[in-house]
Formats: sequence, structure tokens, C-alpha cells
Amino acid sequence: MNMYDIIYKKRQGEALNKEEIRFFIEGYTKGSIPDYQASALLMAIYFQEMNSEETYLLTDAMRHSGDVVDLSIIEGIKVDKHSTGGVGDKTTLIVGPLAAACGVPIAKMSGRGLGFTGGTVDKMESIPGFQTTLSEGDFLDLVNRIGISVIGQTGQIAPADKKLYALRDVTATVDNISLITSSIMSKKLAAGSDAIVLDVKCGKGAFVETLEAAEELAHNMVSIGNADGKKTIALITDMDQPLGNAVGNSLEVIEAIETLRGDGPDDITELSLTLAGYMVFCGGKAGTPEEGRALVEKALTVGAALEKMREFIAGQGGNPGVLEDYSLFPQPSYSQEVLSKEAGFVASIDARRIGLASQHAGAGRERKDDAIDLSAGLLMSKKVGDTVEAGTLLATVFGNDADRVKKAALEAFGAFVISLDIPQSGPLIKKIVV
Ligand code: URA
Repeated sequence: MNMYDIIYKKRQGEALNKEEIRFFIEGYTKGSIPDYQASALLMAIYFQEMNSEETYLLTDAMRHSGDVVDLSIIEGIKVDKHSTGGVGDKTTLIVGPLAAACGVPIAKMSGRGLGFTGGTVDKMESIPGFQTTLSEGDFLDLVNRIGISVIGQTGQIAPADKKLYALRDVTATVDNISLITSSIMSKKLAAGSDAIVLDVKCGKGAFVETLEAAEELAHNMVSIGNADGKKTIALITDMDQPLGNAVGNSLEVIEAIETLRGDGPDDITELSLTLAGYMVFCGGKAGTPEEGRALVEKALTVGAALEKMREFIAGQGGNPGVLEDYSLFPQPSYSQEVLSKEAGFVASIDARRIGLASQHAGAGRERKDDAIDLSAGLLMSKKVGDTVEAGTLLATVFGNDADRVKKAALEAFGAFVISLDIPQSGPLIKKIVV
């Protein structure tokens, strides 16, 4: 078997078999297949696509390219949650404590920001002292003791995805359903939880823009998870405008804390309660998702979820004082207001451009090894459907580099479309795929 024949076969639109897919994944992971051949195959897959059998085989080969975590030492049904990537998506920091407060063990591995989208690990690192790298023993011990731990993904989990994702990022092959499915599900299946709740983002600020593509992605991932014996459910949710008002690392953690206090923006509160309700249902603590939601609503209103957040932060070495004193977070030296030039309604806010603005301000990486400014990002004062006058504050950009803040403010301004017509916005939760 050789790579040339595999590339040729896919280029001609034929389906690859198990041996060919394994040959590619094993060879690429250990370095015997060069980037140029892997890139050619990715592009052939991009144009010719993979059928569901090939997508399953690719996921399985990637999952077994490294360690498969054993969480059996933790009692109960461990539930994982994964978002396909969005702007302002801080739900892990809300649904983790919510579900854990209802008795569902959360042993989660999260990623860093990618392109214009943020990542939970970067956000958590804005909490002074918070450790995102723990030994396996400490990770498992925390989940057993307090019910939740979230750490950065180790290089041993699905290393094939780590290499392939970096290659897809620079070869314009990210937004392919089979490649996204295998990338996400290989990591989720290797990470050891018993059930998975997926948040498939759909819209301008997501890797898939249309409902049709989001449904295909959701069905693919759900059937692979269920075929592996893990109860898997996907929510397709809107990512046309950013989620919540805060975008950027410490700003998003503050918004997550506010949400756990019961004072969060409506969209992030609604999505978090729904996702956490499904997690509680999948974790066997409720008979239906509606019952799960009632339990998480209670955990929110009685303050149990906020207390779980306190234990979670302290358990990972962070300063829980941030819950009461936001000045303990990294502080920006500069801010710039973004004002409307005209009167009307906010017709749309391009989530991708807001993500890019946050990245320009310093919250994201432009290159893989860039350091990030944990205080940088933006706070939106207006969302789709709000009315504005000329001079109304739309958003405020923060950061530690005046030039970057200025560039970010220009990008953020371009993200807002103001119109005289009342905009029609679709539902936040578009579909549930089981
Ligand atoms: N998130 C991932 O982990 N992989 C993808 O391909 C897209 C989003």
C-alpha cells in the first residue's frame, strides 16, 4: 500500500477502505507520511467527500492514534459536552458547574482558541493561579471529590487530530463535514466519558453556515457516538451573532460567573440551561430533558451552581476570590468605544468579524505560538433587534496595545449592520438531533 494510490483513489471519487484509512492515519501520526501527501489527500476528501462508513473508519483510526482515557474509577455516568466552536461561547464554564451541582460527574478536556473562535483553556487561564494541566491522578481525584475538573487536552489524546487540524487550518480544508466529524468525535471518544452532549453551531460565526450542513454534521456525530455505546445528543444552535455580550478571555469568565449568579444575558442563560438539562438527563439524574432543566434551574436559583464554580476554581489552584472581586482578573490598559453612525435597528452582527476583532485586540492567536492578552476582547452593548440612535454605544473594545485596540474597534464597527427595518431573527436553539 502507498500514499500515492490512496490519494489517487480518493481523487477519483472512490471510497477508501479500513486498511487504507489506517495506513494514512498511522503513517501521518508517526511522521512517515509527509505533509504534502496528507494535504493532497485532505483536499481530495474535501472535494470528493467521504461516505458515512469512511467517516466512521477515519474517526476510529484517529481515536486510536493515541491514548484512550479510562474514567471507570469515577462513579456515575460521566457526561461530556462539546461545542463545534463559536464566538463568545463560554457555556462550558456554566454548564460544567450546573450539571456537577446536580450530581453529574464532569471530567472534561478542552481546547485553546482556534482562529476567530475562543477556547475554554485560554479562558480558564485568565483566573489567577488556575492550573489547566493536571496529572491524571489529580484530575480523577478532583472529579471524585468535587464532581468536576476541566483540563487542557494532552498531546496523547488523538494526536492524529492535533497534526491534521494544524494542517487543515493552513490548507483551507477545515470546513468539511467528514473532517470536522472525525476531528471532534475522535477526541470525544478517546476522552472516556459515557455520554456526550454536542452543541453544533450554525451561522456566520461557525464552521458550518447553513442549517442543512449543521444537520448533516449533527447526524454524523450522533450516530458515531451512539454506535460506540455512548448516549449522544446534539443541539443545533445559532451562531449568526456572538453568544452573550462578552468576547475575550477574562471578560467571558466574568460573564459566566454573572450567569451562574442568575444575572447573565438571556441568550447565554437559555442555552446553558438547555444544554445542562440535557447533560443531567444523559447523566441519568433526570427522566427527561425537561426534568433535567428543572433541576439545573433550581441549582442556579439556590446558588448551588455558583458554589460548585467556587469549588472548581479552588480545586484547580485558582483564586476563588474572583467570584466577588473582578479586579483580580488581568486588567486592560486601553479601551475604545464603538458608536453607531446612524439610527435604526441592529439588523445583524457578524459573529466572525467580532471574533476577529477580539483576536486583533489580543485575545486570540494569529500564529500558533503567539502569547495572548487575557484582558483583551470586547463587550457588546447592543444585540440584534435593539434600536439605536446615531452616537449610541454598540460595543467597547479592551486590550493592552493601543494600536491593536484601534484596529479591533474598526473591525467591530464593520460587524454591525444597522437598518430601518425590524429584523427577523430565528430561534437560538434550532433543532435537537438524537
Ligand atoms: N473543532 C474541532 O475540534 N475540530 C474541527 O474540525 C472543528 C471544530
